[in-house]
Amino acid sequence: MSPTPLALRLGIDLGGTKTEAIALDRLGGRELARRRVATARGSYDGTVATVKGLVEALEAELGAAGSVGIGIPGTVSPRSGLIKNANSTWLIGKPFDRDLAEALGRPVRLANDADCFALSEASDGAGAGAATLFGVILGTGVGGGIVVHGRLLAGPNAIAGEWGHNPLPGPTDDERPGPPCYCGKSGCIETFLSGPALARDHGGGLSGAEVAALAESGDPPAVAALARYQERLARALATVLNVLDPQVVVLGGGLSRIAALYETVPRLWGRYVFSDTVDTRLVPPVHGDSSGVRGAAWLWP
Ligand SMILES: [Zn+2]
Repeated sequence: MSPTPLALRLGIDLGGTKTEAIALDRLGGRELARRRVATARGSYDGTVATVKGLVEALEAELGAAGSVGIGIPGTVSPRSGLIKNANSTWLIGKPFDRDLAEALGRPVRLANDADCFALSEASDGAGAGAATLFGVILGTGVGGGIVVHGRLLAGPNAIAGEWGHNPLPGPTDDERPGPPCYCGKSGCIETFLSGPALARDHGGGLSGAEVAALAESGDPPAVAALARYQERLARALATVLNVLDPQVVVLGGGLSRIAALYETVPRLWGRYVFSDTVDTRLVPPVHGDSSGVRGAAWLWP
């Protein structure tokens, strides 16, 4: 609403425990400042105040104003304009973007955190310059976002890229019906490809990251669990490739640190992709854990 162009891109990542804010310079995307505070868990008004406080602090520190984008663990329902699917449950059913716009005196853009991850990596990360990118979160949950020509794909249901609750493609007999999922179905991709899923497949007691580390050291049960994981990831991504045919698939979330995925999965997915050759690149993220907050800053073109 300022008559002069805003000098900054401000991004906020609303996490379950921490809320992080970043200021990027508008043109180059260089990080100028960053702040992190505790999330006002359970308090809607407190969350609005936290975001307002972070924006004001960054703008005071840098002596300039910015556009504001926010990544949330949920999404804005296009039909109602209210937050849905948020595991920060105190946001559900609230007009969060409108309340923030009023508090900050400017329009605010919201997107879910997987979309922010994808946008960050497409803007100046592992998929910079790619015309089409699928960003995947392999963490506590499994999510995704799609960027086409530098912009997030946004559909009427605000679920573009949400592949985690599709059924695992081509299940074997022992993968059917699959583990129950919180969404109410069984055998969702998320129930096989999340960190907790890898941990459970190994037999429990270790985290997904620990199973991956054990596999690297050659421990046979961990090697077997990781092999099943890679085969399932290849199948699940192949169906995305068959629909979207992206130039780049970027992995994010805790399990994206498993280096073997980038070599093994492209060797496996060819069997399931409807093409004689597969030139889609599978790559690790450039910005790692910062992609959520950076992507939020990039929500304004
Ligand atoms: Zn599900």
